[in-house]
Amino acid sequence: AAAAVEEPIAPSVKVDYTKLLINGQFVDAASGRTFPTLDPRTGDVIAHVAEGDAEDVNRAVSAARKAFDEGPWPKMTAYERSRVLFRFADLIEKHNDELAALETWDNGKPFEQSAKIEIPMLARFFRYYAGYADKIHGLTVPADGEYHVQTLHEPIGVAGQIIPWNFPLLMFAWKVAPALACGNTIVLKTAEQTPLSALYAAQLLYEAGLPPGALNVVSGFGPTAGAAIASHMDIDKVAFTGSTDTGKIVLELAAKSNLKTVTLELGGKSPFIVCEDADVDKAVELAHLAVFFNQGQCCCAGSRTFVHEHVYDEFVEKARARAEKRVVGDPFKGGVEQGPQIDSDQFQKILKYIDYGIKGGASLETGGERFGSKGYYIKPTVFSNVKDDMSIAKDEIFGPVQTVLKYKSLDEVIKRANNSRYGLAAGVFTQNIDTANTLTRALRVGSLWINCYDVFDASIPFGGYKMSGNGREKGSYGLQNYLQVKAVVTPLKNP
Ligand code: ADP
Repeated sequence: AAAAVEEPIAPSVKVDYTKLLINGQFVDAASGRTFPTLDPRTGDVIAHVAEGDAEDVNRAVSAARKAFDEGPWPKMTAYERSRVLFRFADLIEKHNDELAALETWDNGKPFEQSAKIEIPMLARFFRYYAGYADKIHGLTVPADGEYHVQTLHEPIGVAGQIIPWNFPLLMFAWKVAPALACGNTIVLKTAEQTPLSALYAAQLLYEAGLPPGALNVVSGFGPTAGAAIASHMDIDKVAFTGSTDTGKIVLELAAKSNLKTVTLELGGKSPFIVCEDADVDKAVELAHLAVFFNQGQCCCAGSRTFVHEHVYDEFVEKARARAEKRVVGDPFKGGVEQGPQIDSDQFQKILKYIDYGIKGGASLETGGERFGSKGYYIKPTVFSNVKDDMSIAKDEIFGPVQTVLKYKSLDEVIKRANNSRYGLAAGVFTQNIDTANTLTRALRVGSLWINCYDVFDASIPFGGYKMSGNGREKGSYGLQNYLQVKAVVTPLKNP
């Protein structure tokens, strides 16, 4: 790995927006409080951001409620709504590099990844759902009897959305684009680690013509602002992405308050299965991407690498070599594949898991310690001889740690891959169509990537089986989270 850059490169963007965005205006928190957001390359403060809590959530909900009940957003023609979203996508492209710089500065992900992949995907998501806005409609239903029956697909109302820090703008897109396309209004809470890019993007959405109150952004913490959203009596639906433990809290708060509908996209410990017939070099590269992408901070990371015993030794050796070649450093520097972890808590948690792995008897092939002397960088780490009951094989580490497990037969690997409380994603690497078909039917996961990984086109639904969550985001399925069905019955002849 390359040497860490000691003097961080200055980002080519200023922080213009740090306040809460309520009813189309940037405002201070009611309490006047702020919190610092940090540069993960150094731990230095980037900016102080208004800290929203329950009172600010109340203000945001009032604005969203009014914008929903009185309009204009849900009452505009679907075509007009669509055009606002298309104009926003154009503005995203115009401001690609500013958005990418903010994203990298606040989150630590490589600038090349932000600028060339994530911000273009952000625009793509909004265009995808902009295209749906005027194509959402119900059915006419052939009911028994002399009735004309139709269904209306209506927006749910005020949507509360709580998002994580690993893909701040993509999570913004997955939540905001379908909700607005369907005519809902929104109170969004960003993650406390990464509040900056969503404020910038939301401001562009207003520039594109969004009416006041249709999207409100409250920066703040989970137990205060987040819990206020989940338990609010005037929010009709909540969509959450984050850890499984927090997802349970959100569901409980929703149930205890007004039974708002809840969709959850939670954790994972996804298997990546390298079959007997695999081309080992290609398998190593894909398995590496599956776990190390985004500093390992992906809910769908392929973090249990199952390798058939016939190719196991060769795989481990090559996976170690690939991890050692991974370029770690300042994410603003060209060619860097891996930046720092998001914050000190995650950094410590990952090092603790590495320690569990070593003490538990797994073989540390490479890495296993911090990289450089400041910031939250961790060396790409590979463990072999990992057993299913070790914590590094069971828990979501959310860091650059690959755990390689050996298996003998397909039946065995199916049982072991499914033996998890999670069911978010899986990868399969094989040229054998029978093997691929068998695994496709057997794996209990919401996303299955065969001979590829982390393919995130806007049209592909994403979500979890088991404790990885419920509901599907993206694609046409993503609309269902933001629509109510009204059944309308009219007698054919007035009685
Ligand atoms: P992570 O471990 O990835 O930070 P969390 O689930 O804690 O995952 O965070 C995801 C989002 O949930 C963040 O926006 C966070 O502020 C929010 N959050 C955390 N705790 C709560 C809570 N008790 N109620 C509502 N939201 C919360």
